[in-house]
This record gives sequence, C-alpha cells and structure tokens, in this order.
Amino acid sequence: MKVCVFSTKPYDKEYFEKNLHSYELEFTYYESPLNISTVQLSKGFDAVCVFVNDKLDNQVIRKLSENGIKLIALRCAGFNNVDIKAAQQAGINIVRVPAYSPEAVAEHAVALILTLNRKTHKAYNRVREGNFALNNLMGFNLYGKTVGVIGTGKIGQAFSRIMLGFGCKVMAYDINSNDELLALGVEYVSQDELFQKSDIISLHCPLIPETQYIINKDSLAKMKEHVMIINTSRGALVNTKDVIEALKKKKVGHLGIDVYEQEENLFFNDLSELIIEDDMLLRLNSFPNVLITSHQAFFTKEAMDEITLTTLNNIKAFKNGKAMLNEVK
Ligand code: NAD
Repeated sequence: MKVCVFSTKPYDKEYFEKNLHSYELEFTYYESPLNISTVQLSKGFDAVCVFVNDKLDNQVIRKLSENGIKLIALRCAGFNNVDIKAAQQAGINIVRVPAYSPEAVAEHAVALILTLNRKTHKAYNRVREGNFALNNLMGFNLYGKTVGVIGTGKIGQAFSRIMLGFGCKVMAYDINSNDELLALGVEYVSQDELFQKSDIISLHCPLIPETQYIINKDSLAKMKEHVMIINTSRGALVNTKDVIEALKKKKVGHLGIDVYEQEENLFFNDLSELIIEDDMLLRLNSFPNVLITSHQAFFTKEAMDEITLTTLNNIKAFKNGKAMLNEVK
C-alpha cells in the first residue's frame, strides 16, 4: 500500500523510518502541506498521512477521491481541519491518533504557566548578561490559587492532577463530568462561575462550533482582573482581537498560547529571515506578559513514538480490512 505523507518534518520521517520495517507499507514524504495547490501530489497513492495544519476541505477531498485516495490517516488527535461529511460522501475513510500522550500537552500547559509566572525566560537572559537584579521578576504562589479547566478529557484530566499537586483549587467546566476528578476534589461549575472565580484558565476542549471563540469580549468581561489564560488546545477557541484589547486594558495579566487561530501559514516553519505579515501575532508578541510557542505541546519522544506506531497500525488495519479502532465518523 502506497502512502504519501504531507507536511513532513525531519523528525516525522525519522520516526516513521525507524518503525516502517515491520509493516508492508511504502511511504513517500512531502514537505509541503496538503491543500488545493498540492493535492495533485497524491495521485498514484492509496492513502494520505496528514497533520494539524493540512487543509482537507470539500474541494481537496473531491480531488483526493479523483486521485484514488481511500484513506486519510491523521497523525494527530484533532480533526477540525477535515471536512468529515465530504470524506464520507467520497467514500474515503479517516483514522486518527486519539491519545498519544495527554501528559505531554498537560505538562507543556504547566510550563507556560510557570514561565509566565516566574519569568524564568527573562531571568535566564538577564543572568547570562551579568544582570542579577530582581526588578520586574516577581511572580505569585500557585499554591491556593483557583485554576479553571475547560474540557476535562484526557489532557484536561492530566492537567487537573498536576495543578492539584501544586495545592491549587481546581474548577472545571465540561459537558460531561469525570468521576475520577470529582473524587480528587475537582469541582464542576457553570462556564460563568469558572470565568468569574478562576485566577488561571486553561483550555482543553476541542474546537467545535459550540467552543469557537469561547474566550471573547463577553467571557473576558466576566473574568477576574489580571487573569492568566492558557491555550494549548486550538487557536480559534480564543478571539485574538478581543484578547489583545483585554491585554491592553490589563484585564488579562498573562497569556500563554501554543496554538493561534492563524497559525496555518506560520507555525512549524523557520520564517526568521522573512517579513511576517500577521499583525495580530506581532502585536501579541509585543506584550511582555504573553508567551507564544508554536504548537509544540505534543512534542515529546514518548508522544512521537505513540503517534508513529498508532498511525502505522491504523493504516495496517485498513489495508488488511480489519476493524479500525481509531476511525473518525
Ligand atoms: P478529549 O476528547 O479526551 O477531551 C475533550 C473534552 O472536551 C471532553 O471531556 C469533552 O466532553 C469536552 N468538551 C466537548 N465539548 C465541550 C464543550 N462544548 N465545552 C466544554 N467541554 C467540552 O480530548 P483531549 O485528548 O483531552 O484533547 C483536547 C484538545 O487538545 C484536542 O481537541 C486538541 O485540539 C488539543 N490538542 C493539542 C495539542 C498540542 O500539541 N497543542 C496536542 C493534542 C491535542
């Protein structure tokens, strides 16, 4: 079975190549993302393997179908970038990696909190330049603070456990409550109560119509002064324009994001020698209390092993006509 991999980075190829020997699959790697201008590259293959910023809209899916593609293998959990209905109509199956390492993402969310709060990134640079002053490095104790978690699935659960370990009070909002978290002392509250009472809000829900722009000018107005907002989930959960206004008014005290609503043409690429035209991202970067990482929360050795093996097993199950446990329907 012939598979073409889009948006390939050196580490994707390295992990597939080290595991491919025990699968009868032929992999071809493209650095370009999959979109309407690159979809022709899929001709002659049986499956495409794609990542978070490949754009599989209705038009791309129709072209994939014309090119004979029978399987879309997502090497990620989220599938908001795929027109599922169009794929079903075209008879193309979709598989994904539902959970690779929830701890990897949860731990990165905590890294954003600690860095923003204790300013270790600034201290590192200062000390290297012989500046040992503490001015403007003051943080706050996490112990005793209220942390609001939106979405208590696999990642939200791992994140809640860590924050409980810091001695925080954890409040959660989800359409389904989780018994294990309830037993650990997490309190499920309404969205409004979470907005009103949290010192730190961390987003761990999927991007769906109900959650798009869950952080907007109305929800921001309900929050505590100087609230810290962390988003490691999907960019469009936050209305960037509204959050910039709230940062200017000092309503938001800290913002840590690993995802950005316009990340598609920016993240995962070295653009350091180019002119970046995204004014909103540049404005965000100009705030001293904003920390942006480029969708790296998943990026640990353990997660890469899991992503690679699950993707290969997903494709193998399809090839052998076996039940596809990780099918997206
Ligand atoms: P999950 O499916 O285990 O959990 C999602 C939770 O959100 C569920 O408990 C669900 O009930 C809840 N939810 C659904 N609709 C909701 C709503 N309207 N309001 C509140 N909660 C709602 O998913 P997960 O594995 O924990 O992943 C969460 C998200 O993290 C993914 O959707 C993905 O976007 C993101 N993610 C980011 C990275 C990264 O590298 N930054 C990596 C993996 C996943």
